This record gives sequence, C-alpha cells and structure tokens, in this order.
Amino acid sequence: NDIKTVGTSLNGSSEKPRFLQLVFVDINGASKGMEIPMERYEEAINEGIAFDGSSIPGFQGIEDSDLVFKADPSTYAEVPWEGIGRVYGYVYKGGKPYGADPRGVLREVLEDLEKRGFKAYIGPEPEFYLFKKNGTWKFDIPDGGGYFDLVTLDKARNVRREIALYMPSFGLIPEVLHHEVGRSQHEIDFRYDEALRTADNVVSFKYIVKAVAEMNGLHATFMPKPIHDFPGNGMHLHISLWGEGENVFIGEEGLSETALHFVGGILKHAKALAAVTNPTVNSYKRLVPGYEAPVYVSWGYRNRSTLIRVPTFWGNAARIEYRCPDPSANPYLAFAAVLTAGLDGIRKKIEPSAYVEENVYEMGEAERTELGIETLPSNLGEALEELKRDRVIRDALSGIYRNFIEYKEREWENYVEFLSSRELPLETKEVTEWELERYFYI
Ligand code: GLU
Ligand code: MG
Ligand code: MG
Repeated sequence: NDIKTVGTSLNGSSEKPRFLQLVFVDINGASKGMEIPMERYEEAINEGIAFDGSSIPGFQGIEDSDLVFKADPSTYAEVPWEGIGRVYGYVYKGGKPYGADPRGVLREVLEDLEKRGFKAYIGPEPEFYLFKKNGTWKFDIPDGGGYFDLVTLDKARNVRREIALYMPSFGLIPEVLHHEVGRSQHEIDFRYDEALRTADNVVSFKYIVKAVAEMNGLHATFMPKPIHDFPGNGMHLHISLWGEGENVFIGEEGLSETALHFVGGILKHAKALAAVTNPTVNSYKRLVPGYEAPVYVSWGYRNRSTLIRVPTFWGNAARIEYRCPDPSANPYLAFAAVLTAGLDGIRKKIEPSAYVEENVYEMGEAERTELGIETLPSNLGEALEELKRDRVIRDALSGIYRNFIEYKEREWENYVEFLSSRELPLETKEVTEWELERYFYI
C-alpha cells in the first residue's frame, strides 16, 4: 500500500482536511482540477476560483481561456486516503455558464426535463478490468475468474471490497460486487440516483477504482475493449422518469405509454447517440456479436441481445436498461444525450418497433430487415456522421457540440492515419497499439 507520494503525507490523518480539490471533467469525462487551501472554500463557492483552461481537452483555445470554477457544496466529500476534501462544480466564463462545461450541459437538459414535469433517475453498471502493473500497457492478468466466480479464481476480491468500503465517503452506496465474464474483469453497481448526482458518482467511482487499484499494485482500466477476444467493459444505464413523486414508467401491466415512447425516442436516435455514449475508437471494438454487447437497434423484455432491455420489475422499480453506453463516455454528455432522445420520443409520441424475443445475434440479415432492425454504427467515424445529421442530439450537446465534433473527428482521423501506416483495414476489430496508448488510462 504505497500510494504515498513525495513529501509529508496526510494519509490516515484524523485532522480536518487542509486542502480542497476543485474537480471538473474535460470533454472526455476525465477528472481535472486544482487544489486550494481549505480557507478559500467559501470564496470558491461564492466568487469562484479563476483558472486557465487552455490546455484542457475540449475547452477553449489559447486566445481566450480565462475561466472560473464555482464549487457546488452539495457535492463535497473527503478523500480518505489523501486526507483532503474534494468538490465538484460548474465552470463559468465572463460571468456566464461556460458552454463547454459538460456538467453545465447536463444541468441544462435536466432543467428542460423538469419544465415538462419530469425528474430522471439513473443507475449505472460500470465494468472494468484489473491488470497487474508492469510499467507498460502490456497486460498481465492477475486472475482466472469468470462470471460470478468466487474464492480461488477471484484473486482481486479484496480489492473489490476495498473499493466498495471507500465508496460511501464519496456518497456512493455500493449494491452489488461481482466478478464479470472476462478474466480479471469486475463490476460494482451502486444505488441509482437523480441523473446529475449519478453522473458525479460515475466520475467519483472511476477515481476510487483507479486509486484503490494503484494502492494494490494493480492498474484499473475502463477502456471499452482492452483485449480483442475478451468481453468488453460496458456501462449499462438503468433509467426511469418520475413526475409528482411517482415513477411514470409504470403502466397498468408492464411499461406505461410514456415509457414506450421514451424507448421509441432512444431507438430513433440510437445511431447518433452512439457518438456520445460510445465516443472512442475503441468503443466500436466492443459492439460486436458474441459478448453481450449490443450491435443492433432493437429492444425486448429481459432479452440481453437487444440494445434496450426491460428488466423484470416489481412496483416502483419500472425502468429500462440501455446497454450501449460504455465507461469511456463522458457521463454528463451521455446522460444529456440519452435523456433528450427519450424526451423527444415522449414529445412526439414515437412508437417503438415491435419488441423481439429471439436472440438478435442469431437472426439473419433478411429477418432483421423484415423486422426493421437496424445496425449500430460500426466505427467512430460513422457515429460522428450520424450525430452531425441528428438535430435533436446536437441540440442536447448545445454549447459543447462544436468542440465535441472537432475533437472527436481529429481522434478518428489520427486513427485512420495509423491504420493506413500499418496497412490495416478500416474494419479491423483487433485492438491496436494506438488504442492502448490512448485509452489504457481511461
Ligand atoms: N460486458 C458486457 C458489455 O460489454 C455486459 C455483460 C453484462 O450483461 O453484464 O456490455
Ligand atoms: Mg455486467
Ligand atoms: Mg446490465
């Protein structure tokens, strides 16, 4: 357990934290921030703390990058192993909310939802791999476990528990911990919450997992598909909408009309959504048949081969499970886009296509065409083209849309150049070094 870095350590100190980390995320959803002495906390809440955003991915260019961070005290938490405080907040520019601040983008969408009388609740299922640290991104797998394995094969079980024990300090309530299908792949689900809080929780979760892994000499990765023929890391989202204290997804029997329209909206925008919920080159290496990750635009009850699954539920737990997102998504942007798609379905009363009961992976192309089942984009480039064509999802991203497209198109072009330098075809589903170098630390 040697996370201690150089200098006097505050580890394990029972004193009040003397430093405060001000945390926001960049366009990729990666935590970024600065630290201030705790004495400046009030100032951080009221006036805000100025910073230069020029080198933050997806933020302003150098011509004009004076930004201000304002702390949102409802998010304050203490980082037990560092002995410091940390708080999330919003980014401002010239006294106004900064358009490219992902948390601000989600807040806007949620305000819109609220105007229509809805509150969104989301519960995520983030998956990740734990590798032995060996100073490179070459894999060293510490365990041989598979789905739900216990004891001998599940070597990292104590690491999983340690993560769960730290979660409450950050306001996350762990619900289920288990080994996933892949060797050395894990999942820890935590309690659903209001959408903004859940997006914050996803950011905190990744921070905790990575830190605890490191304290144990391991490396945690959330990259969507670290190893070609191993299962990918998904981040399924369980979503419900509430109005006047009631879950409006509950129908007379099964889902309500509102819920079905919400499903219709997501299916309609699914291809454009992929650019936001699956925003990396590597994301599309996961969306292939055979690993319980979606490939086709379809929905069904209990059916895990579909893009949207309606889990068996009782009482207030009526919800849909959106299986496309992966943990490389910026949770604020992903939630903003998905909720907007669903809301569009409600507003326009979009009927979803018929639900499917069969395994969609095993259907022939003719059968899928007959049922109107489309295919998700097969790479980031295609997904970005879909996004550019979809007004509704573009609007959901409002102030960050332009930066997002520019940033992601550059990422895609770099990759295409890499492929051609290696004479690899565009369709390759192998995980390349280019991806490992770029995404291993996600
Ligand atoms: N790992 C799978 C995915 O990529 C999901 C497995 C599961 O159903 O939990 O989405
Ligand atoms: Mg899972
Ligand atoms: Mg799931």
